[in-house]
Amino acid sequence: MQKTEYKFSNKTIGCYFNAAFSSLEKLVDNDKVVFITDSNIASIHADKFLGKKIIVIPAGEENKQQSTVDFVIGELIKLQADRTTFIVGVGGGVVTDIAGYAASVYMRGVKFAFVPTSILAMVDASIGGKNGVDVGIYKNLVGVIRHPEFLLYDFSFLETLPDEEWVNGFAEIIKHACIKDREMFEYLNENSLENFKSSLEKISELIRKNVEIKYNIVSNDEQETGERKLLNFGHTLGHAIENIYELSHGNAVGIGMAAACVISEKINNFSSGEKENVIELIKKYHLPVELKFDKEKVWQVLLMDKKKSGDSMNFVLLNKIGDGIIKKIPLPELKELLINYKL
Ligand code: ADP
Ligand code: ZN
Repeated sequence: MQKTEYKFSNKTIGCYFNAAFSSLEKLVDNDKVVFITDSNIASIHADKFLGKKIIVIPAGEENKQQSTVDFVIGELIKLQADRTTFIVGVGGGVVTDIAGYAASVYMRGVKFAFVPTSILAMVDASIGGKNGVDVGIYKNLVGVIRHPEFLLYDFSFLETLPDEEWVNGFAEIIKHACIKDREMFEYLNENSLENFKSSLEKISELIRKNVEIKYNIVSNDEQETGERKLLNFGHTLGHAIENIYELSHGNAVGIGMAAACVISEKINNFSSGEKENVIELIKKYHLPVELKFDKEKVWQVLLMDKKKSGDSMNFVLLNKIGDGIIKKIPLPELKELLINYKL
């Protein structure tokens, strides 16, 4: 099995691309491992978990809450899990977040690894060590930064990924292109979701490229004091509207990225042509760019965003496609910009 190593300050993690789920047997001791997955994956991929210890959480972002972590901990106790237990989260971002967080606090921390099964988890959620839960409508308000021991990518999981989850994942891929990789932006423009869906080779290559982009950003700034903040492109407004309107993460980020482009044009000399190009690309990948929302309500939720510091907020803008920048914007100015923006 081919292993790519990703180095972080306190840990090197092995990444196995194009690996088969069954090869996990070579990486972890079957007696020690407890799988965590969600109800969808547990039923679609039931054959993969035969004879294995497994904890099944209910599928869906609305379950990314502390109560689900408490449930997982209760199940770990029932399974008599101890400090030598090894947790493997198999699923999308909700599963990897819950599994990584539960593993980080159970008995003050047991080892864990991920098998990401959605595009979003493959390119984003499982890399960088952030694990946690939402608190009510506040996204990722509670959590830890702790890296898994390894990541195993079995791309055949994508054969069962629902269409809307493909769309969701591409929001993060477009985000990476906008902030860091103009060439990939053009490549996405020349292709389509359908092209990637019909070629496992093409999508796996694109995913690997996106893992590299995310890894490079995170490893340069693990504690998110600088460049890592770029990954929040589209996510400030996105996170605020996501849970209020029960949008999928990708849809919320699509709308958030379009807004960030308009604001970039207004206060950062981002060209109007490039703004249009980004908006067209978001639409091309079946993501929305607009939403009518309750401005006061959204602003109140936005104020709980972790990017807020004192009376201003770090907001991600584009200089050019492929070149993102973090700008500290005073809250009253940001409110005005977000409330009055028009595509
Ligand atoms: P994320 O979008 O952060 O990955 P989830 O963990 O909620 O969020 O995953 C999105 C949805 O896709 C969930 O309903 C999950 O059960 C489902 N899912 C994830 N991976 C697969 C897969 N390979 N096959 C079928 N369904 C999947
Ligand atoms: Zn995201």
